[in-house]
Amino acid sequence: MSIKVKRTGHKYKNLLIKGGRIIDPSQGIDAVGDLFISEGKIAWLSVQKAKPLPDNYHVIEARGMVVCPGFIDLHCHLRQPGFEEKETIATGTRAAAKGGFTTVCCMPNTKPPVDKAAVVEYIKSVAAKEGVVRVLPIGCITEGSELADFGELSASGAIAFSDDGSPVMDSSIMRSALEYSQESGLPIIDHCEDPTFSQDGVMNEGLVSAGLGLKGIPACAEESMVARDIRLARLVGGRLHIAHVSTAGSVELIRSAKEEGIPITAEVTPHHLTLTEEKVVGYNTNAKVNPPLRTAEDVEALISGLKEGVLDAIATDHAPHTGKDKDCDFTTAAFGISGFETALGSLMGLVHRGKLDLVTLISKLTHEPASFLRRSDLGTLKPGAQADVVIFDPNAEWAVNPDEFVSKGKNTPLAGAVLKGKVIATVYGGVVVYSSMNFLN
Ligand SMILES: [Zn+2]
Ligand SMILES: [Zn+2]
Repeated sequence: MSIKVKRTGHKYKNLLIKGGRIIDPSQGIDAVGDLFISEGKIAWLSVQKAKPLPDNYHVIEARGMVVCPGFIDLHCHLRQPGFEEKETIATGTRAAAKGGFTTVCCMPNTKPPVDKAAVVEYIKSVAAKEGVVRVLPIGCITEGSELADFGELSASGAIAFSDDGSPVMDSSIMRSALEYSQESGLPIIDHCEDPTFSQDGVMNEGLVSAGLGLKGIPACAEESMVARDIRLARLVGGRLHIAHVSTAGSVELIRSAKEEGIPITAEVTPHHLTLTEEKVVGYNTNAKVNPPLRTAEDVEALISGLKEGVLDAIATDHAPHTGKDKDCDFTTAAFGISGFETALGSLMGLVHRGKLDLVTLISKLTHEPASFLRRSDLGTLKPGAQADVVIFDPNAEWAVNPDEFVSKGKNTPLAGAVLKGKVIATVYGGVVVYSSMNFLN
């Protein structure tokens, strides 16, 4: 039997995803076969052991498609509460689903910021009512100029701590944060930037910024803080995670810290892996992002770092803004790129150009971020795990049109670019939360 899946948002008791290339780095699987989902959980994979099919089930034909665990994003901005004109949990999670993400960790620089249990509770309750994928809130490191109440925040469901967007300059606060991390096992996600170096900078510091007459942000604004926090982690322990690594020098610092045995992890964004500062030429405010797009040498070092395991995960840093936030001169424009919906297509460019193998790419979007979150039920197709699955066409070409974004943030430097690699369907807990119309009807 073969019943077509008719609409998204429907939970199927039994769903057979048939004939796709199943890639699950958590189990070392890369083989063509069938995946069966039942009652919101992974039931079996034919490449391991197929079981008899029940009388009733729905079918998604996945021939020629890649079938893998739903992507996990360790770093995004959903903007709610406080900046609902930029994004909401409803629109942001739909954009995530369209990008193949079934779990997203949202940063706490909202209004009010996530420095009280009540704000964590608010995000959780809105996500439960209006979200379409799993939302894991990150709490603030600081509340005002003091350390936030980590115990209160973690008890209410914060899965990590970060002051993303406003770096922790006070070394004694960062030390206390890492001490709490050492006790609790919860990670500190570090936006590494020394604002005294980067002050008023709007793009990477170098020949391009000089040519454009724009104030630059030097690589050492990031690297000096990476170095400081590695030293602090060596001193007090804890789980230090470096957000959006953008420079070759940071990769080297993290590499040597890992070689020394310091328990550090790191993430890199699709835009830092695929774009350079040249995108800013013409004063393109949609290429204004923090940390800034860097040089071709930095991009090469980030790709190598990813392949070699220096960088653990790919995270979007999805940062939606309104048209008004970007439709102004370069210096006053907001920092950030709306990243959920172009992430896979951008990253597949690395695979098609032979820069990265597909299994490694998928591992960095699934198994590795799940390990970071210490969630054995996520980022895997093991029987019993959450039925979070993405089906994508690795060869489908499509032109990026921000007007078609589900995200409220249309701010992308990729408008008009043709990407190769497209999400066809996203299943979250057994529910088809996204499907493109040309495949499912
Ligand atoms: Zn940041
Ligand atoms: Zn961010």
